[in-house]
Order: sequence, then C-alpha cells, then structure tokens
Amino acid sequence: MRTVIYPGSFDPVTNGHLDVVRRSLAIFDRVVVAVFDAPSNKTVLFNGQERVALIKEALTAIGVADRVDAELFAGLLVDYLSKKNVRFVVRGLRAMSDFDREFQMAIVNKKLLPDAETVFIVTDKQYFYLNSTLVKELAKHDAELNDMVPKNVERALREKFAA
Ligand code: ADP
Repeated sequence: MRTVIYPGSFDPVTNGHLDVVRRSLAIFDRVVVAVFDAPSNKTVLFNGQERVALIKEALTAIGVADRVDAELFAGLLVDYLSKKNVRFVVRGLRAMSDFDREFQMAIVNKKLLPDAETVFIVTDKQYFYLNSTLVKELAKHDAELNDMVPKNVERALREKFAA
C-alpha cells in the first residue's frame, strides 16, 4: 500500500489542487491531504478545521473520499511523515516561480529525512493560472468563479464575504 502526503495551506482548496489529488491516485493507493494549521508565511481566510471540512466535502463530491483523507497538521513536514510512517510527498508545479521554493523544500526535507521522496505533478494547462489567492480576490469582489473551485467552496467563499 503506497501512501503519499499532499501538504499545503489549501485556503481554500481549488480544482487545481483536486486535479493533483486525482492524478496522484494513478501513482499511489492513498493520498493524505495535510493541511498546514497555521502557515507561517500567510494569513488565512478559513481556519484549519474549515479548510479540512471543505476538502473532505469536495473529495466526496468527486468520488475519491475512500482513497483520500484530509487532516490538519502543525510543525515540520518531516516529523509528520515520520509519525505517519510515509516517505512520499506530492506537490503541484505551475510556473517557474513555484520551482525555486519547491526545489529548496524538497532538498531540505531530504536532508532532514533521507528516506523522503518528493514527487511533482505538473499542473494541467487549464489550472496553470489558478491559485487560492486569486480565487479569494475574485470572490471578495463577487466575480464569477466558474470552474476554479468546487461548488461547496464557492458557497463557503460567498458566505465568508457576505458576512
Ligand atoms: P502552499 O501554501 O504550500 O503553496 P497551497 O495550498 O498554495 O500551499 O498549494 C499546495 C500545493 O498545491 C503546492 O504544491 C502548489 O504548488 C499546488 N497547487 C496549487 N494550485 C495548483 C494548481 N492550480 N495546479 C497544480 N498545483 C497546484
């Protein structure tokens, strides 16, 4: 049984993230979406529990909830990998701008935990431009979200900004 951890902030989960999950299932038996509880480099719109709940609903909607789980995590990714006894990490790659940071993280993780392997999935062209920040900005100004996020996320964004 091969399990991969997909870590990120997922604030909120987008169809780009879900595409990475779906495609990871062609390589791995199970995916655990690991949601950084309090990412140090950004302020979040949805709290950790809300982000996990949105991911779980979206996974059910696309019919992969039996092979994919979502949970909160805090601390170092390598400690979480050790605790879960998992050695694979998957990340999505969009532009070259992702590459520097991803390269650095993969190397540091491998230094801290030599068994760790990071696998990169290149974004599908339709999700190339898509990220959570863009989605939040659009929702804030009540713009169309079309195929960017699952329906439950669109609802949650509308509620958040209506409040
Ligand atoms: P982080 O804060 O770690 O960047 P994100 O929630 O933004 O977390 O993203 C988690 C992972 O998903 C990252 O590897 C990111 O590159 C990837 N990702 C985000 N959006 C897309 C997308 N549209 N297509 C492919 N991968 C994506």
